[in-house]
Amino acid sequence: MKKALVTGGAGFLGSHLCERLLGEGYEVVAVDNLYTGTRENLTAFAANPGFTFVEADVTELAPGDLTGPFDEVYALACPASPAHYQARPIFTTLTSIQGVLLCLDIARRDGARLLHASTSEIYGDPLVHPQEEHNWGNVNTIGIRSCYDEGKRVAETLVADYIRVYDVDARMVRIFNTYGPKMHPQDGRVISNFVMQALRNEDITIYGDGSQTRSFQYFEDLITAFRKYMAVEKSVIRSFFTAHGLGAPVINTGNPGEYTIRALAEKTLELLPESTSKLVFKPLPSDDPKKRKPDITLAKELLDWEPKVPLAEGLVKTIAYFRDRHINR
Ligand code: NAD
Ligand code: UDP
Repeated sequence: MKKALVTGGAGFLGSHLCERLLGEGYEVVAVDNLYTGTRENLTAFAANPGFTFVEADVTELAPGDLTGPFDEVYALACPASPAHYQARPIFTTLTSIQGVLLCLDIARRDGARLLHASTSEIYGDPLVHPQEEHNWGNVNTIGIRSCYDEGKRVAETLVADYIRVYDVDARMVRIFNTYGPKMHPQDGRVISNFVMQALRNEDITIYGDGSQTRSFQYFEDLITAFRKYMAVEKSVIRSFFTAHGLGAPVINTGNPGEYTIRALAEKTLELLPESTSKLVFKPLPSDDPKKRKPDITLAKELLDWEPKVPLAEGLVKTIAYFRDRHINR
């Protein structure tokens, strides 16, 4: 039986990944300090004998604290919502850097394969649209988003250098806005905010004039990409990225469908016609990227993968989750 370590395993994406791995017969160890994750996210599989939960902060662990050997390591621990990472900015930068370092040291110790959850924030407020992996980004080092963006950029550097220096079998995914069931109702990101507001008949808070764009990926598509990427042999990874002129294995995953935030608000209300919510406009936070859309050519080529769930379908499932778990309970 293969053994996997998932840091951030009680979070939105981490808990879905644990469930997928357990379903595939893996033994899974999830580590999480429950900053934005919850024990509730683990209830569906907490009793599975193959599952172990370690409540701990990745910045306070040494590799020896986690008993391996692990076959696969997934580095996901890090608050991802601007509201939560900005509430604890220094902790966020340290989590991003020390969290991936912990995973890299464990992967090096055990000869494990590693997947690092990077982000479209690497591109900052992008100067090139859509974003593709050769783009070095346009990132403010001293703004309110920098704790997350720069933490994730250093994490990518550490992964690239562990590959060059120690030959660790690692790979990175730059994740574009991903949503779905198990997002925290107070997560603060746009889809969970809009859905909760519409279900509660509260004002829908659009930041700025709502003309900024994002591309929204349903979580199931992302978890499938994780699993396909993890299955690719190191030699194939090396030759693929060398052929594409990239110094380290990094691919975008996201859904290229691009929507303005205003259009997202209108779509949410369209799917909830009984809601009496109104659109209201709030100040745009500083450094909020104006456009975002992934170029997924590399993921298509390497993984034979592309997202399957359109926004309307994913929104319907997400609305049903929030209604059942957080409104009607
Ligand atoms: P999330 O906030 O639900 O999950 C993050 C998890 O990490 C939480 O359970 C949190 O408690 C845990 N965590 C945070 N700091 C920790 C620490 N110091 N020690 C231990 N655990 C800690 O967010 P998510 O959307 O599931 O994101 C998971 C990963 O994917 C993050 O690394 C995030 O940066 C990345 N990502 C997500 C998206 C997205 O749209 N969902 C986009 C880009 C990147
Ligand atoms: N946003 C909004 N209202 C909200 C939450 C977010 O208009 O209640 C906007 C936010 O300013 C950004 C976009 O929606 O332009 C996506 O925000 P989110 O926090 O989900 O993720 P980001 O892509 O900014 O990290």
